[in-house]
Order: sequence, then C-alpha cells, then structure tokens
Amino acid sequence: MNIILLGPPGAGKGTQASFIVELKKVPHISTGDIFRQNIKEGTKLGVEAQSYMDKGLLVPDEVVVKLVEDRLNWQDTKGGFMLDGFPRTLTQAEALEEALSKIQKRIDVVLNIAVDANLLIDRITGRRICKNCGATLHAKYNPPSKEGVCDKCAGALYQRDDDKEETVKKRLVEYESKTQPLIDFYRQKGVLVNIDGQRGIKEVAQEIFEALKQ
Ligand code: ADP
Ligand code: AMP
Repeated sequence: MNIILLGPPGAGKGTQASFIVELKKVPHISTGDIFRQNIKEGTKLGVEAQSYMDKGLLVPDEVVVKLVEDRLNWQDTKGGFMLDGFPRTLTQAEALEEALSKIQKRIDVVLNIAVDANLLIDRITGRRICKNCGATLHAKYNPPSKEGVCDKCAGALYQRDDDKEETVKKRLVEYESKTQPLIDFYRQKGVLVNIDGQRGIKEVAQEIFEALKQ
C-alpha cells in the first residue's frame, strides 16, 4: 500500500507513522527526518535545507522532489511506502504523480490528520525527541516517566530548533498557504480520508487502522 500522511506541523503524523509501519510493514519516508539526518552529518544538502528550516520556510521544491524521486527507487519501496511531510506544495504533488506514473505506481490513500490551529502551537512547542532512537514524546500529552529521558532507550530528549514558538508560527503560515490546498487536490483524486487528529494518540491510531482496512 502506498500511503501519504498529510496534516499541519504537529498534527501527529510522525507519531502515527510509527504505528502504521508496524501494521503495514512499509518504509516510513519523512522528508523532515531525512533533512535532519543530513544536517547532523553536515552534508551539502543538510546545509542548504537548514537555511530554510531555521526560518520556518519550506525547502525549495526542486531539492525535495529530487530527494523523494531517488528515495522511491530504493528496493524497500517495492511492497509499498508511507510518505510523511511530502508532498507539501501542489508542485511537489504533481511531480510525485508524474514520478509514480513512470514506475506504474500510484497513491492508494492520503490520511489527512486534521487538528485545529489553536492546538498545534502547544503540541509542537511541547514536542521532545530522543537523540538516540528518534522516538517522539510530548512534555504534557505523552510525557516520559523520567523528565528528559526516553522511556524506550534511556536516550536524552531534546527540543527541535524549529519547534520554538517564533519559528512554529511561520511554519503554520507556510502550511496554510502552500500545503492546505493539497487536501482538495487529493479529494478530487478520490483518495483522501479525513482523520480527527484532536483526540488522544490511541484513538487517532484506531481511526487510522479502521481506515486502512477499507
Ligand atoms: P507531526 O509529525 O505531524 O509534526 P508529531 O507526531 O511529531 O507531529 O506530534 C507533535 C507532538 O504532539 C509530539 O510531541 C507528539 O507526542 C504530540 N502528539 C501527537 N499526537 C497527539 C495526540 N493525538 N494528542 C496529543 N498529543 C499528540
Ligand atoms: P517536518 O519534520 O515534517 O516538520 O519538517 C521540518 C522542516 O523540513 C519543514 O519546516 C521544512 O523546512 C522542511 N521540509 C520537510 N519536508 C518538506 C517538503 N516536503 N517540502 C519543503 N520543505 C520540507
């Protein structure tokens, strides 16, 4: 199954992705994670991406599209894949359609995780990530048993640089102007499924599991 996770920053895409990969056994392709890995490794791509990410802006389409086209050629996508945080613009969505049609593939379902804007700032500024295993927690909504320490692997938890309130506000503006139009794009293609992302993590996962059964 080929899945897209759509939704504003902080909607819970990454959190739900960790459950979906278990269920569907597909690779989780997060463009944000790929950029952060490149930043950590100090690659040319990382340096370029960081200059946009630090400002809360989207990385240019041509850079992201090339990255995803290459990633979709990996062997592990043969039995399906899950895109998280891509596409984020109409240009990216159209480029994806074209790239998939060349390899006789298509998107089966777009899970649009909907959360009201007023909840998002709280979700993002409270997000904590494990330096070691990458697990995502939340200071208030999904707190670790011991402050600052990952429950899964005892790694140190940190806050993403772009999760500070000032940058978050810019990211939400980018979402509304550039990414939100994709909801209609995929609705018209008949693959959109709306998920109520405002409920607890487990309830949202349950709704997604039901949607993926159909
Ligand atoms: P995204 O990948 O869409 O940016 P995340 O999955 O990283 O979002 O979630 C953002 C933050 O909100 C994280 O700290 C996560 O633990 C928390 N979170 C995710 N889903 C929920 C939920 N349903 N209720 C409350 N908090 C949530
Ligand atoms: P995320 O981890 O999905 O929250 O993404 C973090 C940041 O990476 C975004 O704010 C963008 O700067 C950049 N980014 C991730 N995916 C994309 C994309 N598809 N298009 C443009 N920029 C992206």
